[in-house]
Amino acid sequence: MEERTIHMELCSSRKQKPESSQLEFGKVFTDHMFIMDYSDELGWHDPRIVPYQPLSIDPSAMVFHYGQSVFEGLKAYITPEGDAQLFRPEKNFHRLNRSNQRLCIPPIDEEFGIKAIQQLIALEKDWIPTAEGTSLYIRPFIISTEPYLGVAPSRHYKFIVILSPVGAYYKEGINPIKIAVENQYVRTVVGGTGEAKTGGNYASSLKAQEDVAKKGFAQVLWLDGVERKYIEEVGSMNVFFKINGEVVTPALNGSILEGVTRNSVNQLLKHWNIPVEERAISMEEVYEAYKNGTLEEAFGAGTAAVISPIGQLAWNDEDLVINNGETGDLSKRLYDTLTGIQYGRRDDPFGWVVKVDDSNIHLKASV
Ligand SMILES: *Cc1c(COP(=O)(O)O)cnc(C)c1O
Repeated sequence: MEERTIHMELCSSRKQKPESSQLEFGKVFTDHMFIMDYSDELGWHDPRIVPYQPLSIDPSAMVFHYGQSVFEGLKAYITPEGDAQLFRPEKNFHRLNRSNQRLCIPPIDEEFGIKAIQQLIALEKDWIPTAEGTSLYIRPFIISTEPYLGVAPSRHYKFIVILSPVGAYYKEGINPIKIAVENQYVRTVVGGTGEAKTGGNYASSLKAQEDVAKKGFAQVLWLDGVERKYIEEVGSMNVFFKINGEVVTPALNGSILEGVTRNSVNQLLKHWNIPVEERAISMEEVYEAYKNGTLEEAFGAGTAAVISPIGQLAWNDEDLVINNGETGDLSKRLYDTLTGIQYGRRDDPFGWVVKVDDSNIHLKASV
């Protein structure tokens, strides 16, 4: 790839930063964002960091009509030494390109994408909150911007990265959630877009989520779209079950999103010599295990919550209470280890952490 410089336009005044204790998810954004454009003629071009601001986009832009878009989600953390670091960002950029391929969006240079994020984070380092459990959420996304109502892949795109300081997911320590098994709606099917991180998957999941929320559940457990038999994901997390000392997670079958957290959990389990299997697992199998007392733990895994223990699972008018509705030992161990590595409090035996190169931080001084 040719050498590309990121043009910088800095804002004249900085916003007030929220108190760590007031932080929620995705409501406050930092002073700057990264943008890069694509056209068929120029490819990806004009990478720049500019003040955070609304976009001016033609109402006929394709993304508004046919939803051709993809996104990613990762975080920047502050270590006890005050350094900023990322967790496996190369995985997110690799996945972004796989999502791009599925949505007919031109690929972006993964190494350059990580460099761009590093430069943006270095500039916005003061926005990374330092209180326990807080972090800076990074949202890279691509939208199709060609002004055209025909159904076809767009010939113009924008790749944008915005940053949002987020609060601790668990205010009072890691806490089990109540889940309802979804028998009516499905998230996606094999052959659909479930493997891609694209907005449409979320749009189609809202109805199920809204329905169960009214009954007091945090999320739904998604079953496969053909037989409503095999377990796929929980809410927007991958899901794991510990049955009789062994961990099972649904295999990547073409409709499941491959989480970075899922991959990290699998690697940790192998490292600890805890048997883990990626295979099809039916709700019936989980129910059988529950009935015969071998269902030990269940949990979701994703960037936002890291590990989310499932305390209760409602299925066909039965309530399966897992591990007395408490956080299991394995869930806790995984949570502590993953967050320990992410925040630089523990050794990183797998080389997952990427330090943000502060050679860009001097840019702040030039405002
Ligand atoms: C993003 C996402 C996940 C979790 O992926 P991580 O990389 O671990 O954050 C799981 N399922 C769905 C549907 C997702 O969109």
